[in-house]
Amino acid sequence: MSHTKIGTQTIGCSVKSCRYNAEGNYCELSRIQVEPMQGTDKCHSGNPADESLCGSYMPK
Ligand code: SF4
Repeated sequence: MSHTKIGTQTIGCSVKSCRYNAEGNYCELSRIQVEPMQGTDKCHSGNPADESLCGSYMPK
C-alpha cells in the first residue's frame, strides 16, 4: 500500500455546521481523523452512515 498521498489529499465535506468547513464543500484541515461510530446499536449494520464519522468535527 502506497503512502505517497499522505498530506496531499483534498478532503471533500458538506458538513456546514463544522468550523472547518469551507463553502459547504470542503474541509480546511490538512488531515482529519475518521473514527468508528460508538455507542449505537446500529453499529456493524454495514450502512456507511452507521459505521464512521469525522472525529475532527468542531461546531462553529
Ligand atoms: S473536520 Fe470533518 S466535519 Fe469538519 S469540515 Fe473537516 S471533514 Fe468536515
